[in-house]
Amino acid sequence: MILRTVDVKRFVLYFVLGLMIPISAYASATSARHSGVKDGVMTKTTHGVRYSESGYDISPLTDARIEELAEDLTDEERKVILNDGTEPAFCGNLVDNKKDGVYLCRLCDLPLFASDTKFTSGTGWPSFFQPVDKDHVDEFEDTSYGMVRTEITCGRCGGHLGHVFNDGPKPTGMRFCVNSASLVFVEDGDELPAGAQKVETETAYFAGGCFWGIEDRFAKLPGVLDAVSGFQGGDDSKSPSYKEVCSGTTGHAESVRVVFDPNHVSYDDLLAWFFRIHDPTQGNRQGPDIGTQYRSAIFAVGDDQFADAKAFIEAQQKNGRWSKRTITTELRRAEDATFYPAEEYHQDYYAKNGGTCYTPIYED
Ligand SMILES: [Zn+2]
Repeated sequence: MILRTVDVKRFVLYFVLGLMIPISAYASATSARHSGVKDGVMTKTTHGVRYSESGYDISPLTDARIEELAEDLTDEERKVILNDGTEPAFCGNLVDNKKDGVYLCRLCDLPLFASDTKFTSGTGWPSFFQPVDKDHVDEFEDTSYGMVRTEITCGRCGGHLGHVFNDGPKPTGMRFCVNSASLVFVEDGDELPAGAQKVETETAYFAGGCFWGIEDRFAKLPGVLDAVSGFQGGDDSKSPSYKEVCSGTTGHAESVRVVFDPNHVSYDDLLAWFFRIHDPTQGNRQGPDIGTQYRSAIFAVGDDQFADAKAFIEAQQKNGRWSKRTITTELRRAEDATFYPAEEYHQDYYAKNGGTCYTPIYED
């Protein structure tokens, strides 16, 4: 555990006043930096795995990992990043940097700011009007030194960056005032370190009845970055509307595109989960929903997914789980079945409106 100076000061103050705060209060204060709650919006968090809007793994780092990364820091960087320090104005090496590129977190290499949002503020610290992704910079109220300010920290490692003020230029009106010591600049064309790379994702497609429910079930699975409701497996000549699909004339199934991080969840895990969130033996229906659009289907991407899905269905048919009922899941290649995203009001339907589909979770 790295003790931050503000926390130490607060602890000493309470001790002197005879108001000993329990250790748990300290723990909850620091863990709030990684609670996933920011500006009242819940960032996508699934069992400790967390992804940013733009597709980076921003899962909180362990204290041991932070200690390991901190071994490379200079004393000045350590003071700023780990102990909420501030470098003297006009002394940082990036104040006047006007090259094109990206500014990474000095501690964990997460991309934080882009050069096209940097402006000359005259304050003596590098200034930006917005981060590259709102999930990459966390904000906290800071009441130290008798002022009320908004501290900014790295959205992944929690390292101190500086403060944000509402006197910046258009289009945001914000000024993210950052210590040079908290940043590493990588010029366009130069190689980015591993910590600055997006997650290498894979995509899978599943149709299992009402897509609102299937989308929601997959979206909540740890390792899934994105789930999108759509139509697949029908007439590929044009994008269908929901109304056309409901008429049964286009042949599409309500399908879900699942973007996942294979480092956290495998395709086999997705197959197993798929057979828990729908009944693959119901043919052209799923519970009360009846019609070809509600059929069970897997649209496999590439030979490996196709072979895995085929073997999975065969094993499921043999293992007695579905007794004597025949698995009706259609297995097709995604390359031959275009996925058309459904209308916007179908997306994140459960999250916005609450669950209304027939979505039992079946035993393994
Ligand atoms: Zn960081």
